[in-house]
Amino acid sequence: MPDPTLQIYADPTFAMASEQFRVLADYLNLDSNIRARLIAPKRAIAVTLPVHRDDGSITVFEGYRVQHHLALGPTKGGTRFHPGVSLGEVAALAMWMSWKCALTGLPYGGAKGGVTLNPTELSRRELEAVSRRYMQEMIPFVGPHVDIMGPDMGTNEQVMAWFMDTYSVYRGFAVPEIVTGKPVSIGGTSGRREATGRGVVYLIERALNMLKLPPHQCTAVVQGFGNVGSVTALGLAYRDGMKVIGISDASSAFYNEKGIDIDAAEKHALEHGNLAGFDGADSINANELLTLKCDVLVPAAVEGVITERNAAKLQCRVLAEAANGPTTPDADRILFDRWEEIFVIPDILCNAGGVIVSYFEWVQGLQNFFWNETEIADKLFRILEQAFTAMIKRSREAKIPHRMSAMAIGVERVLAAKKSRGLFP
Ligand code: GLU
Repeated sequence: MPDPTLQIYADPTFAMASEQFRVLADYLNLDSNIRARLIAPKRAIAVTLPVHRDDGSITVFEGYRVQHHLALGPTKGGTRFHPGVSLGEVAALAMWMSWKCALTGLPYGGAKGGVTLNPTELSRRELEAVSRRYMQEMIPFVGPHVDIMGPDMGTNEQVMAWFMDTYSVYRGFAVPEIVTGKPVSIGGTSGRREATGRGVVYLIERALNMLKLPPHQCTAVVQGFGNVGSVTALGLAYRDGMKVIGISDASSAFYNEKGIDIDAAEKHALEHGNLAGFDGADSINANELLTLKCDVLVPAAVEGVITERNAAKLQCRVLAEAANGPTTPDADRILFDRWEEIFVIPDILCNAGGVIVSYFEWVQGLQNFFWNETEIADKLFRILEQAFTAMIKRSREAKIPHRMSAMAIGVERVLAAKKSRGLFP
């Protein structure tokens, strides 16, 4: 990381996002002034969150929010509750949100936030206390026209409801448009929970269509069984008739060459909190999952799982990056050499369905006029289609990998806005 101003973000995930950006900036031949303006986050906020535990003790958690750029509108991005959360990781995720929002034409800069904790180790009351305290600390830095939070790994509709309530109590009236991904009962939108997975499935269908592979004859492996992984697996299995032969979550990994009953896996996960003990498939080593022979591989969990160690061993036709940052830059170079074998749907497009429907939720909240689920799905697919087509077109014309093409479109839009406006945003 050569730029000393970025030292506070020193972290493997931030190094990954920076390296991706450097490769792109070299390709676009951006000069050093412009690079510095594009990469450096505009604002970073770090807070301590003291919370009373159920046993009477007090734990001080650490929370962060990074707002990457302000050139296109307010910032937008999820809040992550995970033990691995660090300022650098959040900054990397905020940068990816910027390219994602610009690629899909949303009027936002990227943001991301997080609290370093394991949500499964907290009681509901403790989780509520952390969520409210986090929003409380963020009040001076967020707002419906400043920075809008949404869900991410480890957070859900209930956490968004606590955020919204805490902000609204401070303002003295309901401000639903301060967060997205909240329950429909308080101004959430229909279709938000399923949005990311639905988008992933749509884009996989588009990729298979281009490869002339009928979905119902294909097999899939899905890593991660949270909101994104489970909705994707369900969609692939029941909408597309695909045989999902491998699934996993943080607790365990499973393989069944005949196809896993995803409904049963979903029920098991709901009942037990995770997939451990699921008996509809054989247990396998989590590392083996990604290199199983399949048509569609969906990493839908954490960053950095496809590395220089396993990239050459992938046996899929389509790599659908439902997680943020699942592929390291070293792995990316290997995948580029394999571009004729593996069709990559890069993360900033693949998982964009979530923030696109968050944008719809925000717009509906601002105008107090709501759309139904069919309207939401239609509008979602239209935006994804536009971004997918633009990515394919540029990739073909310039003979560059999909990730580079998608990032180039996003980065150039941010750059154009910065150039038009001046130095502030
Ligand atoms: N966490 C999601 C993402 O990484 C979406 C965040 C949002 O809806 O604001 O894209």
